[in-house]
Parts: sequence; structure tokens; C-alpha cells
Amino acid sequence: RGGAEEPVIPFAQPGSLTRVYCVASGKGGVGKSSVTVNLAVAMAARGLSVGIVDADIYGHSIPRMLGADGRPTQVEKMIMPPSAHGVKVISIGMFTPGNTPVVWRGPMLHRALQQFLADVFWGDLDVLLIDLPPGTGDIAISVAQLVPNAEILVVTTPQQAAAEVAERAGSIALQTRQRVAGVIENMSWLEMPDGSRMEVFGTGGGQAVAESLTKSIGSEVPLLGQIPLDPRLRENGDAGTPIVQAVPDSAAAKVLAEVATKL
Ligand code: ADP
Repeated sequence: RGGAEEPVIPFAQPGSLTRVYCVASGKGGVGKSSVTVNLAVAMAARGLSVGIVDADIYGHSIPRMLGADGRPTQVEKMIMPPSAHGVKVISIGMFTPGNTPVVWRGPMLHRALQQFLADVFWGDLDVLLIDLPPGTGDIAISVAQLVPNAEILVVTTPQQAAAEVAERAGSIALQTRQRVAGVIENMSWLEMPDGSRMEVFGTGGGQAVAESLTKSIGSEVPLLGQIPLDPRLRENGDAGTPIVQAVPDSAAAKVLAEVATKL
């Protein structure tokens, strides 16, 4: 037949039991990576076998947030991913020399992603989360081509402007014919010492994105949860001890754990 053989991606095979979610956002800094890591750790704590592909070329902050400081190793032709808190992770950042910024072009990214999906020894995963770069870039299309059954999770803040770009990121599903599993609103409010809520970034963004995607896609896209602001979420992210494990009784951890049960 000629031509190079396409690598086999186990998650894309008919009958694969792995649920694949692409975590998308319209812009950076809304907490997409924090949400990805905490959902993964919450699922692993329930006994699920979970992996994360960190495909956010701008951030690649997942290994640090997860506390996975190991390096991938090679056994025969497979890449063995490091893991922490029961979650296996592979990151584009693990393959860039030192801290040198690397200019990743579309085709390079596609190949890197293909390799992460085909050549990493994931074992039998129940769930694979793919942390996408913010926006509606090439990589979201690549994932859709490589794993057509992958579903999309949209992370937004309550802010109107953030919601509009998040909606655009979600509506890529129309083009790729993927299912949108739901919307997660982050940084929804800050609980004050008197118990009242300060709505730092306004209100309604998550609901607005869920409603407008429901309308444009033509099937129900639920708002899966609203995660409050909590400095401990950031601190534990920086320390590599995700809040769902470090402070499980915090409101933020409870919402994250609850969202994890819906996926
Ligand atoms: P993204 O992946 O969308 O760029 P990050 O997950 O890196 O966003 O989050 C951006 C910053 O905001 C990080 O420092 C993170 O710790 C912090 N952060 C995210 N969500 C919350 C939250 N609910 N409360 C407090 N800090 C948060």
C-alpha cells in the first residue's frame, strides 16, 4: 500500500471503554488546568484509572500542579508516563529541552499528540483528560481527528467577556461533531468571613455558555458545577497537592469532586 503506517490509538478503536474528555477554554487563566488536575485526582480517588495529556503548549503546568516531578522513561518502544496521586500524566513540557521556549507548529503538535496517544503506555484507562491550549486552535481539531469520540468540557469564569470566548471554544464541537459533556464555571465567587459571597468576576457566565451551546448544538449541554475562588486551590496547585485531596472539605473541593462523579 505504500506510505507510512498510521500509529494505532487505542482510545479511538471501536469498543474502547476509555472515556476521553478534552478540557477547553476560550482564554488562558480561567483555571482549566487546575480543574483538569482536580477532576483527575478526584476520579482516581474513587478507584478509576485516569490519565492526563497536557497539550497546553502555552501553560504545560499540569505536572507541577499534580506533583508529578518524574520524567517519562522508555521501555522498548513505549513511553512510560510519570504519575502522582494515582494519575498518569504526559506533558508537552516534558519533551522541551530545559526551559527553552519551543515554537510548536501545527503539524509538529499533531505528531506530538499522536505520539502521546499511541506510544505512551497508559494501560487500561477508564478516563483520559486532555488539557487543550486556550482558544479554538489547531490542536482541538487534531484531537477530534485522532480521537473522534472524545467529548468536550468547557471551563469558563462568570465574566461575560470570558463566556463569549468560551462559547466559541465550545462551538468547535459543531465542526468536529463531538459531544459537549458540559460547562464548568470557575472562580464563581469568594466566600466572605460573614458567609456572604463576593462575586469578583460577575455572574452568569457558566449558565450563559451552557444555554447558548445547548441552542447551537441542539442537545442539552449542562452546567456541571460552579467552583468558588479559594486561595488554597492555588496554593495547593503550586505545591503539587491538589485541593480535592489536600482540603477535601472545602467548598471548592466538594464541587470538583461532585463534578467528577458526573463524568
Ligand atoms: P488555565 O489553565 O486556564 O490557564 P490555571 O489552572 O493555570 O488556568 O489557573 C490560573 C491561576 O489561577 C493559577 O494560579 C491557579 O492556581 C489559580 N486558580 C484557578 N482556579 C482558582 C480558584 N477557584 N481559586 C483560586 N485560584 C484559582
